[in-house]
Amino acid sequence: TTTDKNRLRIAIQKSGRLSDESQSLFKRCGMKINLADRRLLAHVANMPIDLMLVRSSDIPGLVMDGVCDLGIVGDNTLEEHALERELTNENSDYDKIMSLKFGACRLSIALPEETEYQGIQSLDGMRLATTYPRLLTRFGNDNNIKFEFCKLNGSVEVAPRVGLADGICDLVSTGTTLEANGLKEVEVIYQSKAALIQGSQPLSAEKQKTLNTLIPRIEGVLKAKE
Ligand code: ATP
Repeated sequence: TTTDKNRLRIAIQKSGRLSDESQSLFKRCGMKINLADRRLLAHVANMPIDLMLVRSSDIPGLVMDGVCDLGIVGDNTLEEHALERELTNENSDYDKIMSLKFGACRLSIALPEETEYQGIQSLDGMRLATTYPRLLTRFGNDNNIKFEFCKLNGSVEVAPRVGLADGICDLVSTGTTLEANGLKEVEVIYQSKAALIQGSQPLSAEKQKTLNTLIPRIEGVLKAKE
C-alpha cells in the first residue's frame, strides 16, 4: 500500500543471539510489535514502523542497499560485509547511529591446546577456519603475516579436530565453546557489540520524523540500563 512507503523499516535478526535483545529494546521504546503471524515483516501497531526479521548476515546488505532504513547488527558482521563490498566495488556506505549495550563478543584466533604458541609470527602460513575472512586478512596485513582460510558459516570450532584447519578465528564471549572443543584463545583480533545502523540514502520527511522520535527513546532505554 502507499502508506507503507512512509513506514520506517528496521531489519533485526529473526532468531539468534541478537533477536531477543533487539525486540526488547524496541518494546521498551513503547513499540507494540505484532509478531503473531511470523511473517518477514512485523508491523508496529502504534508507530509507523515495520520490523523486518532476517538472518543477521543479511542485515548489512539490506541497509546498504536501502531495502531497510535501519538495522541492528553486530559490528563484526557489519565490518566483514563492508570489507567484502569494498573488494567488489559495491556500495558499502552506512552510518552508525549508536552502539547498543548487548551482543558483546570478541573475534579471536584459537589453536588446539597441544599446539605451542610463540606469538603472532608463529601464526604465519596457518590455515584457519573462519566466517570472517576479511577481518582476519586485515589483521594479517596489519601484522605482516599471511593466513590460509577455510570459510565456514557454522561449526567453525570443530574444523581443527576434523583436519580442516590448523586453528580457527571465531567469535568468543565466555570461552566455554573453545574449551569444550580443546581450543585455546591466543589472539583477540576484533571487539564487537550490537549497533544501530542507518543507510546512507536520505529518508523521506515522514520517516525522518519517526526516526527523530525513536532515537531519544532508545537513548533513554540505554541510559536506564546503566
Ligand atoms: P545469522 O544466522 O542470523 O545470520 P549468526 O549465525 O551470526 O547469524 P548468532 O550466532 O545468533 O547468529 O550471532 C549473532 C551475533 O551475536 C554475532 O554476529 C555477534 O555479533 C553476536 N555474539 C555475541 N556473543 C557471541 C558469541 N559468543 N558467539 C557468537 N556470536 C556472538
